[in-house]
Amino acid sequence: MFEKVLIANRGEIALRVLRACRELGIKTVAVHSEVDAEAKYVKLADESVCIGPAASSLSYLNVPAIISAAEVTDAEAIHPGYGFLSENADFAERVEKSGFVFIGPRPETIRLMGDKVSAKDAMKAAGVPCVPGSEGALPEDPKEVVKIARAIGYPVIIKAAGGGGGRGMRVVHTEAALSNAVTMTRSEAQAAFGNPVVYMEKFLENPRHIEIQVLADSYKNAVWLGERDCSMQRRHQKVIEEAPAPEINRRMLNRVGDRCAEACRKIGYRGAGTFEFLYENGEYFFIEMNTRVQVEHPVTELITGIDIVQAQVRIAAGEKLWLRQRDIEPKGHAIECRINAEDPFKFTPSPGKIVNWHPPGGPGIRVDSHAYSGYTVPPNYDSMIGKVIAYGDTRDQAIRRMQIALSEMMVDGIKTNIPLHQDLLRDERFIQGGTSIHYLEEKLAARVGGQ
Ligand code: ADP
Repeated sequence: MFEKVLIANRGEIALRVLRACRELGIKTVAVHSEVDAEAKYVKLADESVCIGPAASSLSYLNVPAIISAAEVTDAEAIHPGYGFLSENADFAERVEKSGFVFIGPRPETIRLMGDKVSAKDAMKAAGVPCVPGSEGALPEDPKEVVKIARAIGYPVIIKAAGGGGGRGMRVVHTEAALSNAVTMTRSEAQAAFGNPVVYMEKFLENPRHIEIQVLADSYKNAVWLGERDCSMQRRHQKVIEEAPAPEINRRMLNRVGDRCAEACRKIGYRGAGTFEFLYENGEYFFIEMNTRVQVEHPVTELITGIDIVQAQVRIAAGEKLWLRQRDIEPKGHAIECRINAEDPFKFTPSPGKIVNWHPPGGPGIRVDSHAYSGYTVPPNYDSMIGKVIAYGDTRDQAIRRMQIALSEMMVDGIKTNIPLHQDLLRDERFIQGGTSIHYLEEKLAARVGGQ
């Protein structure tokens, strides 16, 4: 096992990784920007290094500064968390070339999955069901593009191969709008991701977002840890996640899950990862893979009893996978609410000093957050300040516990989206389970219209 791990991230995930390392008896190095110098998790780490000013381009994305922090502190491995450099193949390569272990997949795997066209090709080859669409990248010839769209059937969606974060996508309903949409998405993709390649998919009108968590070691052993439902989204950003997914085709899910584990063996996947699917009319369609730990990993941890972050570290240290598929027995139900420092109605960020922070507790409640009374939420980063996760024997119990937790939670000094979560946890359709990825936006639109 490693003696010392450097955590190349901030906020709640930095604290989460720190806790995993401490439990494994590993010393930690926190790297931080100037505005994060006073953060408690930075003080909890065995060592800390300031890697630059507040702007993430100069600190959390500053590769030379992070590598030299690892050098001066004698860290052996680097955990990238999520966001920032976590899916940057060049970073993973630099880490390994500098003699450190990257806690994540091999750089070539990150590169393969980071290009959605090559990712889809690899998944198709591995027998994972994909959204019907173009065979790889769209050709230049507009006539060919028209033919492809006709074969798929409208509506279609044009997507950038290098896209991410819900950007670089355009829905097309008619042939008249097609050519213009392709040209625009191409030039936007070039500007935003430095890669003009686009591809086409059938646009699914009312899907749910279901994803499968996997763990694989360096010796081609892989398991899947059940699924999560992350359909409650605003602007393609997840707001509430849960596991297991309510009301889904389980027989098919088991087949898809086994295919995901098999795909991991085929491509030599290493570490934790997530296969994301759209689910419609009982069928699963792969859209992309995330080659890192995800924000919503705790719901899977609570129903499986498996510590995913510790698993990442153990796998990176060369341990052979200690789990077989038959050992994975999800039990109960877990729901996660992402707590954001933002206006619950207008969604404008609300950074500033938290005067009073009172997190909830009690049976089945877990709070992953780096916040505390007196903590100042800096304006420079993502607005998420933590997560409340509720576990219950049943979905109803998890919902009830979450309702109580949210009603106990107090955050004074800044605005948060807790009122939005309270509203959703009382929403009849949510309580029923199985809402589509458009549900929250539709509900919000109705709310604005009704005021
Ligand atoms: P990103 O990497 O930017 O998150 P994804 O490919 O994961 O892009 O897609 C993000 C979201 O866009 C999905 O969760 C879904 O809401 C929507 N989306 C993507 N592809 C389709 C499709 N073929 N049909 C309908 N919606 C889609």
